[in-house]
Amino acid sequence: MGLKVKDVMAEDVVTIVPNELIANAAHLMRSENVGCLVVLESDDTIAGILTDRDIAINCTGDAHDAKTCHVSAHMTSPVHTVTPETEVLDAARVLKNRRIRRLAVVQNNKMAGLLSYADIAAAMRRPLADLLELEGMDAARPQRDD
Ligand SMILES: [Zn+2]
Repeated sequence: MGLKVKDVMAEDVVTIVPNELIANAAHLMRSENVGCLVVLESDDTIAGILTDRDIAINCTGDAHDAKTCHVSAHMTSPVHTVTPETEVLDAARVLKNRRIRRLAVVQNNKMAGLLSYADIAAAMRRPLADLLELEGMDAARPQRDD
């Protein structure tokens, strides 16, 4: 049994709506200290993903006015999705094959989290014991006296 997306995904995702201004999206990224926002429709389905790079390269780069430009103009859409139960290695293959950096994790049409290369890399760096615990195998770990 391999590691699942739900074991390594980021669950604390900051969201925004499509008709919000790019300037406000940038402020939100700064105040929340994130480089990526998930854009949600009013029914909570995912409309897209907006990254700091989208703003810098596409909005600022094209000399738009961030106070009149909307999130919907620069978000990446549609977003590739996986479920919390997807195997991490399968998700990594999607990232590689599609040449994208992030996947939205969706369950029952609702956002459950985000998965990036960084999340996967961080998980791979964890001690083996950590990974075993994630798979519910901690009872099999030897007892230590220290
Ligand atoms: Zn713009």
